[in-house]
Amino acid sequence: ATPTALMAGVGRGGQLGILIKGPDALEASGVIDTVVLDKTGTLTSGEMGVREVVPAAGGDAAAVLAAAAAVEARSEHPIARAIGRHAEQVGVDAAPADGVRAVPGRGASGTVAGQRVLVGNASLLAEHDVAVPEAVTAVVAAAEEEGCTPVLVAVDAVVLGTVVLTDRLRESAAEAIARLKALGLRTVLLTGDNASAGEAVAHAVGVDEVIAGVLPTEKTAVIERLQAEGRVVAMVGDGINDAAALASANLGLAVVSGTDVAMKSADIILVRRHLGVIGDAIVLARRTLRTIR
Ligand code: ADP
Ligand code: MG
Repeated sequence: ATPTALMAGVGRGGQLGILIKGPDALEASGVIDTVVLDKTGTLTSGEMGVREVVPAAGGDAAAVLAAAAAVEARSEHPIARAIGRHAEQVGVDAAPADGVRAVPGRGASGTVAGQRVLVGNASLLAEHDVAVPEAVTAVVAAAEEEGCTPVLVAVDAVVLGTVVLTDRLRESAAEAIARLKALGLRTVLLTGDNASAGEAVAHAVGVDEVIAGVLPTEKTAVIERLQAEGRVVAMVGDGINDAAALASANLGLAVVSGTDVAMKSADIILVRRHLGVIGDAIVLARRTLRTIR
């Protein structure tokens, strides 16, 4: 690998909206055989929306939303932002809760008017020994079946109801995946969200394999397992709790809306919103490596 050819490749990448940190990253891109993609904020817009607020029996939708919005008020998570926006739109005002704690991959908790509020998935509630009524479990299952993301809301260990969220696919996702497959790459969707939501996105965009329900701390282990199977792995994420996975992949690609953490742990930063840049980066690397052999 001549340094001159590699540096030229890095320069060419810049023109294409692919910021390559250095020649090593370019060399790594040329030998990738598997591309792992984060779901929320990468294959989807990350701009989630509230589709429905479903109170538990005898409950009130506004109370569900108020409790959820109070706990999510200061969080940057796409779920939290969607809940906050929705509360504002329907005129439910929620003062921020006290003692808010984020539970990565599960949800958040906090105190509202002296009561303990939990907002998150079934495993968050299980962790706090909160029993979920059968009717609520049915709402959750139906939402997941439709590819949505249900979030449960509990106050003082009683489930108040469910907020059902949806996300939009990025317009360029299907085309970008088709391109990666045409390049002979195996594509894998990795998400902390439920399996049905993962499958729905994977099916819509043509991703080969889904690994769902993965905690942020487990994403690295998934990458390492693929590597142990002999795969050379690129990870594409937005950096919201996938920075460690970006760093442990053979090649980490961060989409531009990513956080500073993602920028640091990524080898390549994709500046253009069109996901086709993932394929562009790999083609560029392969061409550059070919010219220098
Ligand atoms: P992804 O892998 O899609 O980026 P995360 O790891 O951030 O997803 O979250 C996984 C799951 O954890 C979400 O689908 C949701 O059920 C729950 N969760 C995470 N953060 C929150 C939050 N702030 N509020 C409610 N639920 C959350
Ligand atoms: Mg994420």
